[in-house]
Amino acid sequence: MNCDKFKDECGVLGIFSKTSRNLSRRVAFGLISLQHRGQESAGIAAYDEGKVRHYKEMGLVQDVFNNDILESLKGTISVGHVRYSTTGESHVSNAQPLVINYRGGSIALTHNGNLVNADKIRDELELSGSIFQTSIDTEVIANLIAKNYSLGFKESILKTVQQIKGAFALVIVCEGKLIGVRDPNGLRPLCIGKLPDGGLVLSSESCALDVVGAELVRDVKNGEMVIIDENGIESITYDDSKRVAHCIFEYVYFARPDSIIDGVSVSSSRRCAGKTLAKEHPVDADIVIAVPDSGIDAAIGFGQESGIPYGIGLIKNKYIGRTFIQPDQESRELAVRLKLNVLKENIKGKRVVVVDDSIVRGTTSRKIVDALKNAGATEVHMRVSSASVKYPCFFGIDTPNRKQLVGSSKSDEEVRELIGADSLGYISVKGLLESVGKTNCDMCTACFDGDYPMDVPEEVDKNMFE
Ligand code: SF4
Repeated sequence: MNCDKFKDECGVLGIFSKTSRNLSRRVAFGLISLQHRGQESAGIAAYDEGKVRHYKEMGLVQDVFNNDILESLKGTISVGHVRYSTTGESHVSNAQPLVINYRGGSIALTHNGNLVNADKIRDELELSGSIFQTSIDTEVIANLIAKNYSLGFKESILKTVQQIKGAFALVIVCEGKLIGVRDPNGLRPLCIGKLPDGGLVLSSESCALDVVGAELVRDVKNGEMVIIDENGIESITYDDSKRVAHCIFEYVYFARPDSIIDGVSVSSSRRCAGKTLAKEHPVDADIVIAVPDSGIDAAIGFGQESGIPYGIGLIKNKYIGRTFIQPDQESRELAVRLKLNVLKENIKGKRVVVVDDSIVRGTTSRKIVDALKNAGATEVHMRVSSASVKYPCFFGIDTPNRKQLVGSSKSDEEVRELIGADSLGYISVKGLLESVGKTNCDMCTACFDGDYPMDVPEEVDKNMFE
């Protein structure tokens, strides 16, 4: 099923403590709660008395770390990362944290996002003698920090984040400090939490704060760098010239419903989107069901607004590893059936509204509609809690190129016909923004309307649209 969704990006997490050297275990627990953001590799780096030790491997957090490894990663600062590869191959050399050693010590760097000028900077750095060992954007950032390091850690990071362009939430450990930086548009999320012992946490999502026992303090602001040490939090605004453009897809699909991102509950925003969808695309039906999991809140909202009872119609098998699913057509079809099965007794003889969070290629929607009709649904009405996806993302989300986005080349009626539904309705961009309680001055909605919050380089633009 995942083959027909936007792919999640990465998750970052860091903990600073004055009292404990046993933080990597907590980071591992926190990373498990961020696992939905990346399942290809996981890593943790711990800072202890000037030294950085790290371990990273391909696989899920629970498979990568065991007791012995976590025992070897003691330290008063620990940072971790889960990765889905949006740039760079899926290989352990591209896993994070990325640790670089320099004359004065070591830096461990984790990054969620994607730079739009990484290739240009990489070329320039290579011309001036830098050697790259990975194909990830994060190494470009690490090399820039190393190049600027004579300025001191603070100035070198500040200079670096002013040179890079794109989406980035960075969590860095160096010189006994835990550092968080969010890009000038605030595209990728990053929040701050506080532990009962006064320790501080940086995380992609607040659901990981709950797991490590921290309280949400606030989000890191767009264009802000925070430096955390025994004195607390130092905040530096390094760029306040860009418009806020938080990624709206965090609320639609990427983030966990129990997270609060930039002050908005993900679960509540999805319920609100479902209510708006019911108002914008009403239909007579007997049951509202969700495509689990990310469609559940919107389906409940749709049911509340329409008065049509919400029920369970599709059962998700949660125990499917990504590597098991081979990328050929037959395996993909098997995978859809393996991942989602119809609860026939709830569907047979009924007019069904099925709520999904998005339609990307349309192939999965077609299979879901077929499966519901085969199970005896008399009508199937597809309702989608995101607007029609027409443009690719350049900011750390793996999207197909424009040709493969069904909403880009086909009208809504053509998509309805393609997926075989009796009716199809997408929430409007306006309705979606209202469900998050924001306007298009606060959010990136570029995958719906092509209004990118920064210039997209011509060569990237050309490749993505081919
Ligand atoms: S283009 Fe879409 S997926 Fe990418 S950052 Fe903007 S809203 Fe998010």
